[in-house]
Amino acid sequence: MEVRFLGAAQEVGRAAILVKAGGARILLDYGVQLAEPEPLFPGHVAAKDVDAVILTHAHLDHTGAAPLFMLDGGTPIYASEMTYQVADLLLRDFLKLSGYYLPFEVLEVEELLRRGRRVDYGETIRVKDAEITFLDAGHIPGSMQVLINADKTILYTGDFTTIRTRLLKGAEPPPRDVDAVIMESTYALEEHTERRTLEKMFVSAVKEVLDQDGLVLVPAFAVSRAQEILCVLEAHGVRRGVSIDGMAVKILDLYLENSRYVDGYQLLYSAAKHATRITDRRKRRRAAERPGVVIAPAGMLKGGPALYYLERIADNERAGVFLVSFQIPGSPGARLLEERRFVHGGVDVRVKARVEQFKFSAHAGRRELREFVKMLEPGRKVFVVHGEPEACRDLADYAAGLGHEAVVPERGGDYVV
Ligand SMILES: [Zn+2]
Repeated sequence: MEVRFLGAAQEVGRAAILVKAGGARILLDYGVQLAEPEPLFPGHVAAKDVDAVILTHAHLDHTGAAPLFMLDGGTPIYASEMTYQVADLLLRDFLKLSGYYLPFEVLEVEELLRRGRRVDYGETIRVKDAEITFLDAGHIPGSMQVLINADKTILYTGDFTTIRTRLLKGAEPPPRDVDAVIMESTYALEEHTERRTLEKMFVSAVKEVLDQDGLVLVPAFAVSRAQEILCVLEAHGVRRGVSIDGMAVKILDLYLENSRYVDGYQLLYSAAKHATRITDRRKRRRAAERPGVVIAPAGMLKGGPALYYLERIADNERAGVFLVSFQIPGSPGARLLEERRFVHGGVDVRVKARVEQFKFSAHAGRRELREFVKMLEPGRKVFVVHGEPEACRDLADYAAGLGHEAVVPERGGDYVV
């Protein structure tokens, strides 16, 4: 068995790993790095040199370059139904924003949704002499880990977390005797706050703002985070003026239509019933003028309807802006946290509203990553990817300490299992 790392090697993003097993050439993810001014692509691989492409989940850093495989119509692609539906929305949006830089068009995106082969949790497919099984990754609805079985076995976690959230029950554990693991390490250096504690901190801050008749803006990723926050509010009985806006509404409707991908579906269903869907300007204006909670993308305030609300509440001391994820240094969200300022119509504005951060995460933190490695029998090969170099190195050192053969792969590097 051979593995080539075309991307996500000592970096977060553009996941792309080529595995040669049982005579089959299997490409695991084919994502982009969302950089400015233009997206970065993983190492090239020709469609004729790939027998199957597997997409672990819908995020663009795992799917953004996959429509390329629809150009000649030949390569079979496998993913969950949920992944195809969400990726379709994200890829269309990606084309609108960055289409100029992309080597495919809407036709290829349509083909991906139409022709992509559907696989589900627990299912095993065969590509030449390789057997491929799909396991829940607990990252976003529809996300999968991939287990390849040929002369050796290898597990690719994709992005994963093992903890239970309001939407997902967490990743399935790795088979103890797997020969090799390719695992992400995004938060290998960061300990996450326990989820229920984080929820309580968030909800009590929301209630404080509502008690003063203020508006809480929750900038949130449209995929999974916005819907999770909706569930958190519902679970804690916060229903006063709860609204959800933008692409988060479309994703919510996809989740409601695909109940088998959501653990705790009943909670999501009742949360959706009690929330207002913001679908036009009039509703948006009304939501911005009254006390309540508005959940709106973008999660790091790089655009989207969140900016509309931020502009309207910036000057209001009784309002709150509660960021619910990590903020990339240099993003408008990070600047808002550090300096209480943001740029509005070319003018730098000071924000008087209360600004706080609650680090919800869809990735395993340091503790969960280490527990995952501990589940493996000693002597496995552990490839650490999808993290900054120090994070990859840290987790690899930990794995080596447990008696594994730990590797931090180079981009473009070939390795034997
Ligand atoms: Zn992801």
